[in-house]
Amino acid sequence: MNKEYKLLTPGPLTTTKTVKEQMLFDHCTWDEEYKQITQRIRKKLLKLAHVKDLDYTTILMQGSGSFGVESVLSSVLSDENTVLILANGAYGERMVEMAQANKINVLLYESPVNEQPDIKEVELLLKDHPEITHLAMVHSETTTGMLNNLEPFATLCKKNNLVFIVDAMSSFGGVNIEVDKLGIDYLISSANKCIQGVPGFSFIIAKLESLKKSQGNARTVSLDIHKQWEAMDIDGKWRFTSPTHVVLAFEQALKEMEQEGGIPARYARYKKNMNLLVQAFDKIGLKHYLSEENQSPIIATFEYPEGDFKFEEMYGFVKERGYAIYPGKLMGMNTFRIGVIGEIYPEDIEKLSEIMQEYFEK
Ligand SMILES: *Cc1c(COP(=O)(O)O)cnc(C)c1O
Repeated sequence: MNKEYKLLTPGPLTTTKTVKEQMLFDHCTWDEEYKQITQRIRKKLLKLAHVKDLDYTTILMQGSGSFGVESVLSSVLSDENTVLILANGAYGERMVEMAQANKINVLLYESPVNEQPDIKEVELLLKDHPEITHLAMVHSETTTGMLNNLEPFATLCKKNNLVFIVDAMSSFGGVNIEVDKLGIDYLISSANKCIQGVPGFSFIIAKLESLKKSQGNARTVSLDIHKQWEAMDIDGKWRFTSPTHVVLAFEQALKEMEQEGGIPARYARYKKNMNLLVQAFDKIGLKHYLSEENQSPIIATFEYPEGDFKFEEMYGFVKERGYAIYPGKLMGMNTFRIGVIGEIYPEDIEKLSEIMQEYFEK
């Protein structure tokens, strides 16, 4: 039998028993009650994004987070458009791969994974490339744990009239994002990150004015966000089979998030977890990869300790004692990662630190 453990990963993550219990019921998809659940979820997500339903809409999309990102890129850009993608990690790079596979005109601005993208350099790029119509970036780069500052780029998009696309997969719900104020046109996140649902769909907060203009641009049938929105907006019925169990669990996760105190409470808990983690690991002698001001309250990267260290061995030791941790994702550098989101509390971080301490003392 598998021993149970909690996930210290960036998603899927540890969920509550009450969220999981919702999945014991097989709901009918064309049933009125089920369609209303979808509508309630769409409304609640707009609230969390601080936008009004006159200006924005929520589109739910089957599949994991990447399906959501690809649905936006492949639905929004026409052959006359060009997207500038800012990448300082694997998820930014993945957007480039998606744009290329979909034969979208794309320019890449790559910057070091442990630094904020340089606004001055991006400004210069825009001057040199007047063909750029869209700008896409990642908010919380889960590759390292870097929290990219959206504000300067939001201002730049407004100034240059660019459509602003933000992959806020691992931050939405855990870090406050003023979507309307920032003028974000498309924000993408998924069910299994900071809202603490289970994996199965992603969601897009879309500015209606931009979404309407994108009609007819989709390069695929099933990931067409305009068609998905048109169908879903009638009465909450999804265009194709929806992940019913995941939807039920997600509504419960949203309720539990409200009970906890919404985004501010969740941010505070994650932040506390992160501060504890960084302090405790520093005491053990593990080197934290990012500087403090760049560190998100989501996931942190640590360098391998000196000497004869095997990640798999440490992973096994920690798993035996109730926690699953995460390998690193950096090129040319040996690192591992610890996520602090999900149903994880300061007690868990303290326990983990004790386990790690014990492991390194051995
Ligand atoms: C999790 C995540 C994604 C989506 O990954 P999936 O494996 O498709 O769920 C995209 N971008 C970021 C920044 C993420 O953290």
